[in-house]
Amino acid sequence: MPTALITGITGQTGSYLGQQLVGDGWEVHGLVRSNDAQRTALAGLLPQATLHDGDLTDTDALRALVDLLEPDVIFNLGGLSSVAASWTHPVDTAEVTGLPVATLLDAAWRLRERTGRRVGFVQASSAEIFGAAETSPQNEQTPVRPTNPYGAAKAYGHHLVGVYRGLGLEASSCILFNHESPRRPETFVTRKITRGVARISLGLSDGITLGNLDAVRDWGHAPDYARAIGLAGTTTAGDYVVATGVPHSVRDFVAAAFDAVGIDDWSPLVQTDPAFVRPTDAIAQIGDARRAREVLGWIPTTGFAAIVAEMVASDLRDLSAG
Ligand code: NDP
Repeated sequence: MPTALITGITGQTGSYLGQQLVGDGWEVHGLVRSNDAQRTALAGLLPQATLHDGDLTDTDALRALVDLLEPDVIFNLGGLSSVAASWTHPVDTAEVTGLPVATLLDAAWRLRERTGRRVGFVQASSAEIFGAAETSPQNEQTPVRPTNPYGAAKAYGHHLVGVYRGLGLEASSCILFNHESPRRPETFVTRKITRGVARISLGLSDGITLGNLDAVRDWGHAPDYARAIGLAGTTTAGDYVVATGVPHSVRDFVAAAFDAVGIDDWSPLVQTDPAFVRPTDAIAQIGDARRAREVLGWIPTTGFAAIVAEMVASDLRDLSAG
């Protein structure tokens, strides 16, 4: 039975990855911060996982955990994942999203040297490393030019994966474009929209306030992206863009959410406020996942309207349950 160590297992994508690996017969271990609510929620979703208390910034504990478990693959999904928060917490972002990649890669490399066997490593990188891309769609050859502290921290991790792969470690960087699900926190615009629309539909609210409705993103389904990460851990190591290649605006997302509750004339229900616009907004962030398709055999299975409808349905259920 192969063993996986997942950081960020309590997060949106880490929890799907854990469930998929357990379903595939893996022994799954997760790093969790001491947070009872998160632990309880995860125990409901993933009772088979063994959880280990720890923080990504605790270098010695992280190394010791890798030495103890001797995992076949380390999946690094932990980190501060909000671009907006990275502007207010740039140092924390570097410490949690950037530096632990070095600790984990070094621990994986030492484990490989000590045991002489394959040790896989997968980094959850981000489309934000391409921040100032001049071409769209972006692929693995697109220059890395982050435009925010989160993207810069992810760029550091992405480059370091390449350095260790050069040494011979089976290290992959999955360059993830935006992915959503009912497990997405409300601090992200997508969940703010679906939650807001569900509240309006239930008569609990009379509108939502958003930033730039014309911002365009490439939105996929978190379980699909977790599957790509799992495949990267067991197949050929490399850099892989993970994306749908289909552009949608925030306005499209809003329209799909209102469509899911049967409201056609939604314009009067949506206000825009410049305060919600990011300091620097990357444009035309669209991914070309041809390499993931050809090498990993990965294809996204859930389309845009279905993702939005799933999130709205989940919000309606939560709100109705009180
Ligand atoms: P989440 O924000 O949902 O999950 C982040 C995880 O990191 C949580 O489990 C969180 O734990 C953990 N974490 C945060 N800080 C620490 C710390 N100091 N020590 C240990 N664990 C910590 O992110 P997603 O699941 O959505 O994304 C997974 C990864 O993919 C992230 O690295 C993200 O940056 C990256 N990514 C995501 C994209 C997306 O659209 N979702 C797009 C591109 C990249 P806790 O529950 O305790 O807070």
